[in-house]
Amino acid sequence: MSFLPFTRPTIDEETIAGVADVLRSGWITSGPQVKAFEAALSEYFGGRPVRAFNSGTATLEVALALCGIGAGDEVITTPLSWVATANVILRAGARPVFVDVDPVTRNIDLHRIEAAITPRTRAVMPVDLAGLPVDRDRLYAIARPRGLRVIEDAAQSMGASWGGRRIGSMGDLVSISFHANKNMTTGEGGCLVLNDTDEAALAEKHRLQGVVRDADGGMDVDVLGGKFNLTDIAARIGIDQLKRIDAFNARRRELARRYFERFAEMNGQPEWECGLPPADFGNGNWHMFQINVPFDRLRIGRGDFIRAMQEREIGVGVHYPAIHLFTAYRRLGFKAGDFPHAERIGRETVTLPLFPAMQSADVDRVCAAVCDIIAKNRK
Ligand SMILES: *Cc1c(COP(=O)(O)O)cnc(C)c1O
Repeated sequence: MSFLPFTRPTIDEETIAGVADVLRSGWITSGPQVKAFEAALSEYFGGRPVRAFNSGTATLEVALALCGIGAGDEVITTPLSWVATANVILRAGARPVFVDVDPVTRNIDLHRIEAAITPRTRAVMPVDLAGLPVDRDRLYAIARPRGLRVIEDAAQSMGASWGGRRIGSMGDLVSISFHANKNMTTGEGGCLVLNDTDEAALAEKHRLQGVVRDADGGMDVDVLGGKFNLTDIAARIGIDQLKRIDAFNARRRELARRYFERFAEMNGQPEWECGLPPADFGNGNWHMFQINVPFDRLRIGRGDFIRAMQEREIGVGVHYPAIHLFTAYRRLGFKAGDFPHAERIGRETVTLPLFPAMQSADVDRVCAAVCDIIAKNRK
């Protein structure tokens, strides 16, 4: 039995050959492949302007800069995400204002947002955890009348939709990641969906040192940009991945369904007490399949559980411990008890394997292993 990782990118020989072509072409950093990738992404997002970046974190940083967010500003976000979501707010000089998650969706609880708005609030940055979209209708019904910008951290929700419309094809600024573990990848990379061509031009400046070139071969710099451009090598991978994203996501949905079927069979057995994600097959892209393991009713902790899975040749992940309990955030005054739902989920969450090349039998093996470990370790 070979080791089953919790995720693995699907890269085919055509992509490998395509990357070799780029390497041989003599132009390997940002160039024609990036332009072609951006055009294909724009088409995927209904014609909206899109710019490619070298990470999803970079797209978030640039999105904050485009909104003019800095010292003294507040950005409302979720404590249950990859830490990049909150780090970029702090690095911009602003303050993250966390709002606890809905314990069912695990996404920011939109009902609690209004109470968190102050005169300093400039933007809301929701996250589609595991690719399960936040309710876009409700989100914009809160943000728009109050003049708040929305930076959708859609890092995980490439190819997901809300109300039959693709995430990225609507809304304000939409940031997506193409990290190796995401549903489509460029190795490292990301893209930002923008509102208009002026905003896209400004994003380009922020992407590369603020440089604007003129027709005489000169240049000017009027904003302090960073170094966030994507290479043509990476863009070439992305062009192929984009063609396959909907098929990848369809396969992920099939595998997620199988998890639910298997877990439903185990449900009712005394040892089966895990929390499951919402069974949403209309909107989400099943970026991850996370269960909550009730460690307070087991004799083992999460580390032991992860090791027991590894002994059974299965890799699992943890996405994510609550951000506000990290040392750098506690120093800002955040503490245990601030966001109880995020904290509990952060303690209990375990990400089971889910990626397009997985077999149905792999799902069965994972479910059996989880059940067996829980059965053997009840208090
Ligand atoms: C992956 C991820 C990011 C950051 O993307 P990178 O490409 O790794 O920089 C930001 N937010 C969330 C929710 C993510 O999952």
